[in-house]
Amino acid sequence: MVDYMNKVLDDITKEQIGRVIGLFNPYMEDYLYLIDLQNDDYRISEHAVDRFMLPSSHFQDAVKMHEFFVYEDDRQMIMEDLELILSGQKKNHNLHYRWLDRNGQPVWINCCGGVIDDAEGRPHYLVGCINETGRKQRADNISGLLSELEFSACVRSYGNNISSGFFMHIGIDDFNSINGTLGISCGDYIIRKVAECIRGCLSNGQQVYHIVADEYIVADFGKHTCEDAVDLYKDIKESISGFVDSENYKFVFSITAGILDAALYDGSYEKMMKLSEFTLKQARENGKNCYYVFAQEDYERLLRKRKIIRRLQYAVDNDFCGFEAYFQPIVDCETGRLTGAEALMRFDMPGDNGMERVSPFEFIPLLEETGLILPMGRWILNEAVAMCSEMQKTIPDFRINVNISYVQVVKSEVLKDILATLDCYGLAPESIGIELTESGYLDADPHFERFRNGLKSNRIQFIIDDFGTGYSNLHCLSDLSPTYIKIDKTFTDKAMHNAYDHELMMRIIEMAHSLELEICVEGVEQQDVLEEVRKFHADYIQGYLFGKPCPKTEFYKQFV
Ligand code: C2E
Ligand code: CA
Ligand code: CA
Repeated sequence: MVDYMNKVLDDITKEQIGRVIGLFNPYMEDYLYLIDLQNDDYRISEHAVDRFMLPSSHFQDAVKMHEFFVYEDDRQMIMEDLELILSGQKKNHNLHYRWLDRNGQPVWINCCGGVIDDAEGRPHYLVGCINETGRKQRADNISGLLSELEFSACVRSYGNNISSGFFMHIGIDDFNSINGTLGISCGDYIIRKVAECIRGCLSNGQQVYHIVADEYIVADFGKHTCEDAVDLYKDIKESISGFVDSENYKFVFSITAGILDAALYDGSYEKMMKLSEFTLKQARENGKNCYYVFAQEDYERLLRKRKIIRRLQYAVDNDFCGFEAYFQPIVDCETGRLTGAEALMRFDMPGDNGMERVSPFEFIPLLEETGLILPMGRWILNEAVAMCSEMQKTIPDFRINVNISYVQVVKSEVLKDILATLDCYGLAPESIGIELTESGYLDADPHFERFRNGLKSNRIQFIIDDFGTGYSNLHCLSDLSPTYIKIDKTFTDKAMHNAYDHELMMRIIEMAHSLELEICVEGVEQQDVLEEVRKFHADYIQGYLFGKPCPKTEFYKQFV
């Protein structure tokens, strides 16, 4: 073979060699190369220049130039190998190492080649092939389908000329648990069978690709609509039910699909994939075993959520900028005397028209979801205790209420934080009240038990917030023995408008009093509501009638 190549290379000119290498065009993934070892001359397929840090497809100083396109850590290895080849000690070259791409990033390649000697037996040429081993596969043997690489190539080949059809992103639900309980080979079997079920339901012009382990995409650029995609989803589900049935229910699983109008494709594959992934995620959030058709407003909501999370993270990293502590007065129901305040977070972020105030109903759940409630919870605690300490100079029995989220109870040493903050400002434990919403402890767990006992043994007030929303659990009142309960505005409002809730509210207050618990009624906006609440003998009132939440300085001006 080498003799034959020798003869061929003797016969053909260098220009012809260049042309042979040129045959390895951009549509091929591999790169052909030829090094003239005697003249230190390097030739490689033209399209390798677009991909790697190569000076051109034909250059001199072949050995030395490796310094520019081989990843630094691998240079010594390749140089040593080339030296052995140049000295005639090695006739084959087969190395797995890294080149640098056009952005200077390492790319794994396999470089194979053989040496062709000249008539005197001295090494003359090194000829071979380079392929990228880190590249994604074009087809997948598990599913028997084409892979995401083929899908992207197909979509990209349309430019931005897709005007109809759909993408349907299909996911197998809870695939990890299938793999975990039934084993990976069974998981692979299901991947293959789902692929078959999908393929069996497709009509002409539709193609299915295997995207990742448990996800597929059906692409249709014909006349079919998203409604047709829904019908297709139903057919696939039926086909899968038939398969599960035929296997005697050895495994039961469902599929979920996100559907995207293909006309939304604007030429950016990455953007389309984001939308497609969003549709599947949305369908899964809607409960799995269902489909979801892309709606712009849902996507906008997701973008807004991401923006808020980014700004919250930024605030936490930058001295809590954008956050402000507000305080709302709590007064004695009978006399109207100021007894304390509730600390409430406020958050502003840059919006379309200057700064925008984000409602706590929007950002508190995001703080909880991201865990940022831990630093923010410590921040508001500090602001609240500092404010209370100043207030006590004028009103010695002033008490401050702080909302604590269940996440703080489970994921941090919140009791220690509370005690340390009180200590820092020299405040008595009775000065602070911890508000926890009813829903926070419905599923009481050891963390909560410990927290509750810790508050009790340290004489810190514990307050059940938002009583009357959700599933009011009357057991809470005796089991948790709170210092007092806060009746939510929605419940108060209902009690003012219908006799049943009026009676219920009255009885709950009576019962709480018989258990020696106090009551705070929230959301009192009007005088007539106050009169009514007074008839119930509530203990405290919090509402706009007495004052809206405001910053500390304004609070002093208005209420002290
Ligand atoms: P919440 O703890 O029930 O706080 C009382 C909410 O009712 C406050 O809303 C307050 O501004 C509002 N409010 C008080 N009186 C009236 C009234 O007369 N009329 C009306 N319409 N509303 C009244 P805000 O400040 O928007 O807070 C909403 C919720 O956000 C809070 O409900 C609380 O669950 C949460 N939150 C606020 N700050 C914090 C915090 O620092 N930590 C935690 N974990 N949650 C917080
Ligand atoms: Ca509260
Ligand atoms: Ca409340």
